Amino acid sequence: MNTPAPTGCRDTPVLRERGQREVFCGLTGIIWLHRKMQDAFFLVVGSRTCAHLLQSAAGVMIFAEPRFGTAILEEKDLAGMADANTELDREVARLLARRPDIRQLFLVGSCPSEVIKLDLSRAAERLTAEHGPNVRVLNYSGSGIETTFTEGEDACLAALVPALPQTQARELLLVGALPDVVEDQALNLLEQIGIAPVRCLPARRAEDMPAIGPNTVYALTQPFLGETHAALTRRGAKRITAPFPFGAEGTTLWLKAVAAEFGIAPEKVDEVVAAPRARAEKAIAAAAATLRGKRIFFMPDSQLELPLARFLTRECGMEAVEISTPYLHADLHGPELDLIAKGPVISEGQDVDLQLDRVHATRPDLTVCGLGLANPLEAEGLATKWAIELVFTPVHFYEQAGDLASLFARPLRRRELLARQHP
Ligand code: SF4
Repeated sequence: MNTPAPTGCRDTPVLRERGQREVFCGLTGIIWLHRKMQDAFFLVVGSRTCAHLLQSAAGVMIFAEPRFGTAILEEKDLAGMADANTELDREVARLLARRPDIRQLFLVGSCPSEVIKLDLSRAAERLTAEHGPNVRVLNYSGSGIETTFTEGEDACLAALVPALPQTQARELLLVGALPDVVEDQALNLLEQIGIAPVRCLPARRAEDMPAIGPNTVYALTQPFLGETHAALTRRGAKRITAPFPFGAEGTTLWLKAVAAEFGIAPEKVDEVVAAPRARAEKAIAAAAATLRGKRIFFMPDSQLELPLARFLTRECGMEAVEISTPYLHADLHGPELDLIAKGPVISEGQDVDLQLDRVHATRPDLTVCGLGLANPLEAEGLATKWAIELVFTPVHFYEQAGDLASLFARPLRRRELLARQHP
């Protein structure tokens, strides 16, 4: 295992840009959050546009009654001609009467609800008083004004933290909504290393939500949880500093940092992870044959850009041209910057036209970007990877490391095949 490179990017001057951005809004997070939290319902207080976004992002996956919906703000609400609060209360009462399985109800704010300044935190308090203790009503914003799509999960988890009970227990908390199968793999590894019990935020059901206190230590599994990190810190919990668990190296460093916090030697971690780590390295090597030597450009979108650039450059042999993230959180992303060799432009925020100029000037082999930019770039002969796939696909820890590398190899292989068929 390599130790952090002294030539890392932590001191690289950051190019900060503020201009037009091309990203999905925070409502997108509902798609993976509703699968994770099995007795929660996400009620978007928004317009028909918001409802369409949710339906098109998730509609094809729905076979049972979904656990999200939209309370549509009509024109008369937006014009202030109706009491939107009264209508919201009526919608919630109707929903909860029909769905007694709901234990947590999230009122999710949107651009329209923010524009008319509908106070959803007061609505959540009022509705908790009315429908609690059976149902807890919370609120957060998924609005697309000044946000990017992974901020929805961050806002949701941050909204949960103040409502969690207090504890003095010294416990590890895993923070981030992982697919159940991936979460189980992580819990299993931690148990073998000697760390148990481990609690998760979010828990799969309301009754299993963790308690928090000054002896809680937590490890983030996602790099976009800045608000949740701040909320947990306010509750006295302590974060374990580590790179994120992507790839064989990232996963090992993450596990070793957690183990060190509990006084467990790195040799114990090496012993436990030997087999899954070897499997991961083998799977990564297969995809790396396509990736090695290729140049990659990250546009700011998922907030996964820095850990993924670290994985792709160090474990797959790629060269990063520019690594751009919507927000650079020095505290959370510092360990990643330490590991990325100097060279790429590190940028924060977006001015899409200026950034596209840099893509055209550097002509990378692969550009990671949103859906709106991918098609025009493909038409210009530039291979792309949709950033949103990275949050819909299980990519954390050892067993998914090969799949993560393959996600980037696939568009390059497809392009090679097309070039061979149509030289
Ligand atoms: Fe569009 Fe805003 Fe609704 Fe998102 S929250 S779908 S950006 S109107």
